[in-house]
Amino acid sequence: MRSAPLATDWTTQRQITRRGVLWLGLTCDVRCKFCYDEKVALNAKAWMPPTEARAALDKFRYFYHNEFVDFMGGEPTLHPNALEIVRHAADIGLRPTMITHGMRLADMDNACAFADAGIHDFLVSIHGIGDTVREIHGRGRDNYAKQIAALDNLRELGIPFRFNVTMIKDNLTELEAIAELAGQTGARVVNFLTFNPYFEWTADPEISFQARHSEIAPHLARAIDRCTALGVEANVRYMPPCQLPGHEAHVYTGYQLPYDPHEWDYNSWYDTGHEGEPDPAWYLDASRRQQQRHHYVHVPACGDCALRQVCDGFHAQYVTRWGADEARPYDKPLIDDPTHFVKQQRKIRYTGTGEHSGGVDTKSLAATRLAVGDDSRAGVKRQRPSRS
Ligand code: SF4
Repeated sequence: MRSAPLATDWTTQRQITRRGVLWLGLTCDVRCKFCYDEKVALNAKAWMPPTEARAALDKFRYFYHNEFVDFMGGEPTLHPNALEIVRHAADIGLRPTMITHGMRLADMDNACAFADAGIHDFLVSIHGIGDTVREIHGRGRDNYAKQIAALDNLRELGIPFRFNVTMIKDNLTELEAIAELAGQTGARVVNFLTFNPYFEWTADPEISFQARHSEIAPHLARAIDRCTALGVEANVRYMPPCQLPGHEAHVYTGYQLPYDPHEWDYNSWYDTGHEGEPDPAWYLDASRRQQQRHHYVHVPACGDCALRQVCDGFHAQYVTRWGADEARPYDKPLIDDPTHFVKQQRKIRYTGTGEHSGGVDTKSLAATRLAVGDDSRAGVKRQRPSRS
């Protein structure tokens, strides 16, 4: 059933995110040059069976009290039961987002089908403008034109959308143009992501497309300013705040992510078993665990930095490759509030949410716990092949 878009306003109030994440499988029809999943064996890419997806969604909603869910891939719109899974999420009050390259939505029938299933919004990966998209994707024809057609369709259907951009050498000079595109097309948010050398990239010391923070920063600062001028929320992920002086309010390391409503709840992500909504102290501990899990390290200069208790620092691979001379410690009294800078950012807030469906025996959901270890992309990602 189509759902009316949630009303929004702008706020500087920061609250813990209520968004879960579910990896539906790692299959994709393009081959982005920075993708982790291209390095995964084919037999580990099977789609999650719909019964398991429904069980995980029930647990997100009724045990963890999540109100939103992101579906990840691969390319989740390719899941053979994608519509059924989206419909189930919408039916239980877990507003569904698909994180997608968007190209299947260039077909109006596909876009309509997701609207009818109750999709809340799409997070579309726009990694460049024009031919850059095709070059980064490595596969497909008319990829950028299809993305633009998809955005046109979503606008026509009244389905909100946001952008993700992974910043690599190939697209640094296009970041402002992507901000401009967001303004022109009506995207609500642009997330500028540094490339993270996680998972299958960890062992590669010389990743050819990886850019240094100092290379990215001038382009990124202008893109953030453009977004702000156009009324688009701009977020930066996984870059130390000291790399963007004057724009720290937009910067989210793993310590700030719990305070972005579009980011993932560490509690349900790792299926920690803490029913309901833990307090901020729990999320601070969870952020420390995430920092270690993803191999971020503080460099010697961080020892003198006021932000050292609430900043990830640099990725270990990054430091091995380029050293630590970019760090710029803040010479201030110690800061222990992870929202110190980000609480100055005006962010989009959904209004009219917050209800929690009761009446479900959460003990019966315990069997759906699918956590598979610290290196999993989500607590519910399967690590053994399955067939739907
Ligand atoms: S803790 Fe280190 S990386 Fe983080 S802002 Fe301070 S100097 Fe930069």
